[in-house]
Amino acid sequence: MSSTLKDYIETQDSLLREAAEALPHQFNRCTYPLGSIRQPVYLCLTCALPRGICAACSVACHTDHEQVELFPKRDFCCDCPTSALHHPCTLHTTPEDENTTNHYGQNFKGVFCRCGRPYDPNTERETMIQCLACEDWFHESCCNLRERPDADLPLSTNEPQAQADPQPQSDDVDDGASDASSSDLPPPLIRASDYDSFVCASCARKIPTLLRYAGTNGCLVVVRDDVSAPWRVIRETKNETVDVDVPVGSKRAHSSSVEGPEAKRTRTEGSNPKSPCLVPPTNSVAQGILIASKPDLGTGDVFLTEGFRDRWCRCGSCLPSLEANKFLLLEEETYEPPDDPDSGLSLEELGIRALSRLPRERAIDGIHAFNAMRDDLLKYLRPFAQEGKVVGEVDVRAFFDRLQEEKALGVARS
Ligand SMILES: [Zn+2]
Ligand SMILES: [Zn+2]
Ligand SMILES: [Zn+2]
Ligand SMILES: [Zn+2]
Ligand SMILES: [Zn+2]
Ligand SMILES: [Zn+2]
Repeated sequence: MSSTLKDYIETQDSLLREAAEALPHQFNRCTYPLGSIRQPVYLCLTCALPRGICAACSVACHTDHEQVELFPKRDFCCDCPTSALHHPCTLHTTPEDENTTNHYGQNFKGVFCRCGRPYDPNTERETMIQCLACEDWFHESCCNLRERPDADLPLSTNEPQAQADPQPQSDDVDDGASDASSSDLPPPLIRASDYDSFVCASCARKIPTLLRYAGTNGCLVVVRDDVSAPWRVIRETKNETVDVDVPVGSKRAHSSSVEGPEAKRTRTEGSNPKSPCLVPPTNSVAQGILIASKPDLGTGDVFLTEGFRDRWCRCGSCLPSLEANKFLLLEEETYEPPDDPDSGLSLEELGIRALSRLPRERAIDGIHAFNAMRDDLLKYLRPFAQEGKVVGEVDVRAFFDRLQEEKALGVARS
């Protein structure tokens, strides 16, 4: 099938219009009946603090209210239909009692990180990192990954240099700078692609097994030798000889075959309380920072590299503190509004899939993202139409690849 883009756009325009009308149906259900689940949570500054609402309610019930996206929080039940919020829920119309099991950390008061600053998506220049354990968000600079961006400096020193690359065109993105969230920021000491999960120091101190691993292979810690020395990353224990391999058979067999919770559970149960402890030799520098708390020499935050869940020792003394923090053993499921199975809209599906491929902490509120994406896509396709060119799958893919790259920059990850 080949058609000019003009036809294509006309078709897609109407399909996208339908899609936009159909999409809200994914947001027409409050998650309250699902109970306490891990889901994206929104703070409504207009209604009540500290309370949280689900994605559907943020769109349907609190449309004109001032909101802050908190991203996923575990064991959370939507507060919108409860008596804690006076604004009536338009989706779940049965009034419910206040939730008693929700945990409202400082994010629910609108402040983030150990520095306790509020978050403003319009002015925040730093990438923020979510702690796997407490799910609070931390500035890269507060983890000593980079200098604090110079937003606080007087404009006279800041402005001229920052514009060395005026209005970079999205087409000629400089790959060398692609890890910086803002065109004038150098890359952080540990790049987002260098680790899988992050556990803040105050959480790490409460998890004995993780604490023992800090500063060993795959559990990176940022330190400096004295207050005038540069920050550096401990990537592994020196003289390390112990190879922390998971017992043969448990790792490969499951990761390639089944992905269900069953398979993951089997892996956990594979531990033998009598097996010898396989924790690598502890790293004394990291231990010193975490146990003696020397903030000048490091925060004690731990960056866990890919595959960390398979590497823990599961002996009788190591396993209990891991099991008490299940997210260290099993990747959690995060609720997303269900896809419409009958959509059959190739472009829409492509878009939804592109968005869902983003790590979930980077994915932004679906409907806003979809609308923005649709607008961008149409803008992208319009020149094709004007020139009467045929648009191919390659062109559409190029768009989504670029979209994904843009999303990967400057948006927080966990
Ligand atoms: Zn809700
Ligand atoms: Zn509200
Ligand atoms: Zn609601
Ligand atoms: Zn901070
Ligand atoms: Zn934490
Ligand atoms: Zn052990």
